[in-house]
Amino acid sequence: MSRGHWLREVRGVLLDVDGVLYRGREILPGAHAFLQFLAAEGVPFVYVTNNSTLSPEAYAERLTRLGFPATPAQVVGSAEATAHLLKQTYPSNALRLLVIGETGLFETLQRYGFTLVDDAASADAVVVGLDRRLSYARLAEATYALRRGVPFYGTNPDRTFPTERGLAPGAGAILALLQAASDRDPQLVGKPERPIFELALERLGLSQGPVVMIGDRLDTDILGAKRLGLRTVLVLTGVTPEVPPPGPQSPDLTVATLQELHALWQQAIMPAKDEVPPTGG
Ligand SMILES: [Mg+2]
Repeated sequence: MSRGHWLREVRGVLLDVDGVLYRGREILPGAHAFLQFLAAEGVPFVYVTNNSTLSPEAYAERLTRLGFPATPAQVVGSAEATAHLLKQTYPSNALRLLVIGETGLFETLQRYGFTLVDDAASADAVVVGLDRRLSYARLAEATYALRRGVPFYGTNPDRTFPTERGLAPGAGAILALLQAASDRDPQLVGKPERPIFELALERLGLSQGPVVMIGDRLDTDILGAKRLGLRTVLVLTGVTPEVPPPGPQSPDLTVATLQELHALWQQAIMPAKDEVPPTGG
């Protein structure tokens, strides 16, 4: 059987964004055509990103501007997944949250009905995402709350993220500081943890058929998807430069680009010429 023959059975797609569709300002080879192909084939897809700094509305706008059509419901970021998890855990919404993060995280939590507070004494939980203007005072406030024993959530574990100048500290690095200061470990929401994948699958709305996760990171995209029993495709256009050795994190399929995946998928759904037709009787 040909490479990626199983793609013909796939009924839905989860798509990582950075390193898969674009890298910085560069659109990656075949990305637009691949999404057009999925749309034409009627294969639903959801964008899944650990980025917590944008609301689904803002993210959908950014994607659409870059030529990747997206509705807010089609974008599952770690801010949205965190709000969703909190709402499931505390349905009353009465929770007052001390939040380290940016506008997208604040807006998303408020949209879900949560109250945001600035002082440790009135916080019922601490939520931490990426904040590129973080102050010592804010970190101290979060630490005081955590030392009181309130629940501790982290939007995503990424310790760094790529910028034009190199790797910058990510939400995971801020979490590491708070872990050191509070002797507490956060409950994490983003990839590779389950909550973000579960929300993304809910958004796909499929009752059956395999779903494939397409990503560029072995330790988040691929590992997390495998834990949920999803099919996995690694694209080598992001942080993973070469075909990984076989192991617990190895994907079902590795491709150089989305262009290659597109070609394999087309091959997989073409009626096979050499297939023996079923004989009657
Ligand atoms: Mg990525």
